Amino acid sequence: MKIFVVNAGSSSLKYQLIDMTDESVLAKGLCERIGVTGAIKHTAADGRVYAAEIPMPTHSEAFEAVVYAMTKSDAKVIDSFDEISAIGHRIVQGGSIFSKSTIITPEALADIDALGELAPLHNPAHVLAIRACIKTFGTEIPQVAVFDTSFHQTMEPKVYMYALPYEYYEKYKVRKYGAHGTSHHFVSQRVLAIEGSQDKKVITCHLGNGCSITAIKDGKCFDTSMGFTPLDGFMMGTRTGTLDPSAVTFIANKENLTPDEMSNICNKKSGVFGISGISNDNRDVAAAAQQGNERAQLAIDMQRYQILKFIGSYIAALGGVDAIAFTGGIGENDAELRAYICDSLAFLGVKCDYEANKVRGKEIKISTDDSKVNVYIIPTNEELAIARDTLALIK
Ligand code: ADP
Repeated sequence: MKIFVVNAGSSSLKYQLIDMTDESVLAKGLCERIGVTGAIKHTAADGRVYAAEIPMPTHSEAFEAVVYAMTKSDAKVIDSFDEISAIGHRIVQGGSIFSKSTIITPEALADIDALGELAPLHNPAHVLAIRACIKTFGTEIPQVAVFDTSFHQTMEPKVYMYALPYEYYEKYKVRKYGAHGTSHHFVSQRVLAIEGSQDKKVITCHLGNGCSITAIKDGKCFDTSMGFTPLDGFMMGTRTGTLDPSAVTFIANKENLTPDEMSNICNKKSGVFGISGISNDNRDVAAAAQQGNERAQLAIDMQRYQILKFIGSYIAALGGVDAIAFTGGIGENDAELRAYICDSLAFLGVKCDYEANKVRGKEIKISTDDSKVNVYIIPTNEELAIARDTLALIK
């Protein structure tokens, strides 16, 4: 059973081929600059690489390049795409329609397309990729959509509504949807498996370029930090997170900026990058802070404080917490951040195991055995989560 996992953007296509008999990755790759020029880099599990510049006017040529890479190139891993049981697509926005993964039928595809209004940068690209997949692979291979939002569909109205005039919810479906749901689901399932019970209060922190925190009760999402879009929550690599909307309208008026220009500033020029003026990458900013750069230090301090504040608010929302898990590039690697969170929660009986906390990128408990809350590093694996959902649906 081999599942082809696709994560398509408007000009890029990330993929993995996963053998579900042992959940091993047979190959992974990336097509870039689709619609402009076109390039593929494909890596087989044994390290063989196929890289080429190939014209990719649309996603169809990108999929053809992937087929070549997988079946004919020096880094081939299969003889034919007939060996593939199904294709799983990562879809950013499932709105209120998709509370779980679904087989892609013409009706589902039309719904994903219509949800493009809520995710204009993502859903239209997913639809292009799905259509290109149908063109390249025909309708014989089933295709499945796995949504970033569906894990968050269990939030109650009091959690997901914004205190705007109700008509905007009715007219435009403006509400909190959340994101990173596939990752929060995957990580929380691992935590619950380790804890040996579904009946636990868990907080999962996905900290990468995009960052979000989710509060989980009985295996279900209760609240999450990202909102109507992935801009909400706390400070990220280039995104603001939550801030007073008046600051946005004030700056727009002062600088004579359009809503789209302001959105671009909030999404792409803010966050750790905007404060430090150095980089959106926490490693660069941490290095500058070490050299005494005050704005770099401020960016780090702000982000850590905001993460702590979200965790604290979710402990209150859940009425306590049994386990906290860190994932994503920052969550899996930044030992100082994790120690800061544990130490700040010492008043709740959280005790960091500083030796275990030195570990990077591996599943491990980083709290001591007498800690009142178990704290973990759980490396996320969204591609595997998509492949598992895809397999479950085609069975
Ligand atoms: P994405 O959200 O794009 O998948 P990642 O999950 O790979 O991103 O996370 C990228 C972030 O992880 C960057 O800010 C990077 O600096 C950070 N990161 C990676 N390694 C480390 C590390 N050793 N210490 C601190 N941050 C790290």
